[in-house]
Amino acid sequence: MTRPGKEKPVITLHALTKTFPGGVHALDDIHLTIADGEFFALLGPSGCGKTTLLRTIAGLETPTRGTVHIDGRDATPLPPGQRDVAMVFQDYAIFPHMDVTTNIAYPLRIKKVPRAERTAKAADVAARLSLTDLLHRRPAELSGGQQQRVALARAIACHPTAFLFDEPLSNLDARLRLEARTFLKRLQRELAVTTVFVTHDQAEALALADRIAVMSAGRMIQVATPAEIFHRPATTFVASFIGSTPMNLLPARATDAALHVAGATLPLPAPVQDGHLTYGVRPEYMTLSPTERPDAFPGTVSVHENLGTHTLVTLETPATLIQAVVPEGDEPPLGTPAWAVPRRALLYRDDTLLTTL
Ligand code: ATP
Repeated sequence: MTRPGKEKPVITLHALTKTFPGGVHALDDIHLTIADGEFFALLGPSGCGKTTLLRTIAGLETPTRGTVHIDGRDATPLPPGQRDVAMVFQDYAIFPHMDVTTNIAYPLRIKKVPRAERTAKAADVAARLSLTDLLHRRPAELSGGQQQRVALARAIACHPTAFLFDEPLSNLDARLRLEARTFLKRLQRELAVTTVFVTHDQAEALALADRIAVMSAGRMIQVATPAEIFHRPATTFVASFIGSTPMNLLPARATDAALHVAGATLPLPAPVQDGHLTYGVRPEYMTLSPTERPDAFPGTVSVHENLGTHTLVTLETPATLIQAVVPEGDEPPLGTPAWAVPRRALLYRDDTLLTTL
């Protein structure tokens, strides 16, 4: 298991800024260190700068300001071919006129590795990715998942300092995508190669990464482990972006020792200065009670959504909607009153995390 941030830095970004002609600030003063062997995910909504950041590390974009160090060397002025990183794109970009062996061995050919050696190396990497039976096929004769593995094999064959993946799983169907995710995680553990992975899928980032950077408008809003991002999202933006069911984010008001939220009065362990307060609870940390209690949010059950082993229950309250995840069979009937009891909550002031409750 990687101890994030503790090992030798492999990729270091300093004050990295990219402004495109026309004034789009795709990257805005990014500082980041990625450790040797780390699996690092860049996560964020469309247009937040994930791909631009990856392309800047790869040398496919020139930063407006700032530096990229790879393996202790200032790579900022180097062309992509001299950075010793392998990039795998969304569309795999494997050559249609070459068979699997030739595709995998292609980077070795560029490096002038002798033919026998590169064929042997391609066969070795192909075996690791269960491609041995497909070595003589061309891309058109492969499934999406197989093409993706060929692209990965080609990246591995280069023996790079780091892998850069731009949504490599996004062209796969849902089931194959889950399989590929587990496969990629296992492979990355085995090879222990530093990996930067772009995704807009938060479940994918949580499942794969040692650390995640959540980006918005060219900035890194939070860089932390998946557990930290899930349990202690630093801002209401991260809180609303992460989680398979969205977090309940409710306006709150503080008095001396209590917090007033959506019809409930909740104890406060320490006084907080009033301000623009937001109280956050994940639906998974909400229990439903059939009887009234002062520390619970009163509402009327308006929707049941089946999540398989659990049900997402929506309560309508005078001011807002509140959601709770309950075990299947425990949902109160539609139209009945219910009280949502928070078990684990977060308090934000001016959209920044103040404390956990
Ligand atoms: P997506 O998830 O949709 O791929 P992203 O987070 O990867 O998005 P980027 O592709 O990095 O986002 O784009 C960041 C911002 O920079 C966007 O506003 C985009 O429109 C802009 N941008 C990207 N490339 C260029 C370019 N070549 N010229 C001008 N603007 C660009």
